[in-house]
Amino acid sequence: MSPRLVLATHNAHKLGELRAILAVVPGLDPADVVAAADLGAPEPVEDGVTFAENALLKARALARATGVPAVADDSGLAVDVLGGAPGIFSARWSGRHGDDAANLTLLLAQLADVPAMHRGAQFVCAAALVTPDGYEHVETGVLRGTLTTAPRGTGGFGYDPVLVPDHQPAHATAGPLTCAELTAQEKNAISHRGQAFRALAPVIAARL
Ligand code: IMP
Repeated sequence: MSPRLVLATHNAHKLGELRAILAVVPGLDPADVVAAADLGAPEPVEDGVTFAENALLKARALARATGVPAVADDSGLAVDVLGGAPGIFSARWSGRHGDDAANLTLLLAQLADVPAMHRGAQFVCAAALVTPDGYEHVETGVLRGTLTTAPRGTGGFGYDPVLVPDHQPAHATAGPLTCAELTAQEKNAISHRGQAFRALAPVIAARL
């Protein structure tokens, strides 16, 4: 059976997360959704300067290479006092792409003297759908919070241990939790990625 939707992610964790979110698309069987790597599609250079541009260029390249409607996302952490940085450079803030521990350590050092009232930040995710006939649509999701001064929690990935979401689960009675202290379900319910993809789901449904 030929796939009906291809996802740009090469990250197995994200793939599972996105398949679960897209399960709400009416008439779309999870078996109809494949990863870029399954179709041997190459990864384009991410040379956009916004989350939306990078999500679109990944989805465009994938739709062109496969002839199948494509979905891609780009995400990162935007810190208020850093003017929105690390932003699109979140994954390589310390200089080495994907070194989560080094990225987080560098960020905390840069913000060492910034008091709690000025430690506002947000995760941002742009999710794009591009179809082979040239239709394009982008949705953006934001998870707003405050940065801690030291990492807390073992769940999640990236900057999760330092972002305390404004919206806290009811069981957080002993004090506010970081994203790395939430369950995967709790994080998905409020996350930037969850919001962007849930907003994109009906658009996908209308176009498939
Ligand atoms: P990408 O969208 O996979 O390129 O992710 C960019 C980078 O942003 C990741 O490597 C993380 O550093 C950061 N990031 C994006 N989303 C999250 C999240 O949900 N939690 C923690 N860090 C994130």
